[in-house]
Formats: sequence, structure tokens, C-alpha cells
Amino acid sequence: MSVLVNILGEKCPKCGIGKVFADKGNIFLLRLPKMNHDCSHCHHKFEKEPGYFFGSMFVSYAVTVAEMIVFFLIANQFIDSYVTIVVLIGILAIVLSTFNFRLSRMIWIYMLDGKDKKI
Ligand SMILES: [Zn+2]
Repeated sequence: MSVLVNILGEKCPKCGIGKVFADKGNIFLLRLPKMNHDCSHCHHKFEKEPGYFFGSMFVSYAVTVAEMIVFFLIANQFIDSYVTIVVLIGILAIVLSTFNFRLSRMIWIYMLDGKDKKI
């Protein structure tokens, strides 16, 4: 449970105290989230090598598709037009893009570099 709380709270995978992201980003201001280079508490380096977060794109894809399916199942109960639902899903994907960016990187970090992993 604490791992889930740490992932959602964007805490360091090693100490659970330091923040991974310095800036949460804002899609309406076209600003991407900005990661810290290392943990402010235990100095754990987040990006081990160039391209370390390439795999988080696949996590992001899975998270985004899951959100779309859940939204479709809910919206299908209230909205009759599939075109409207697809447009709303597109808007949802844009609005949640920075959240998905941060969430997918956090899941990726915890998958590869969690507390029990010795890298
Ligand atoms: Zn740390």
C-alpha cells in the first residue's frame, strides 16, 4: 500500500521522502513536468542512463488506454453519440497527458528501481 501511496505522491523509490518531480507541468501552458536529477534526501539518481525512461512510454500507453476504456464505459451510459464520446476521450487524453507522463515514469521507476531492487 505504501508503494502505491509513494507512486501517487511521486516520492523517491529508495527513501520514500524526496520528490521525483520538481515541476508538475501544465498542458494548458504547454509545460512538461520537470524531473529532479537526483533525490534531495538520499541523492539516489533517478535517470540511470540516457533513454532510461523509454520503456515508460509503454506504461503511459497502457495507463491512457485504461483511462479511455473506463471513460467510455461510463460515458456510454449517459451519451448516445459515439462521435461525442470519441471527441470527449480525445479531450480527456490531452487534459490528463501531464498526469499520465508523471504516473507512467513513477510506475517505471518503481518497477525497475524500487526499494527491494539492487541495481
Ligand atoms: Zn531518496
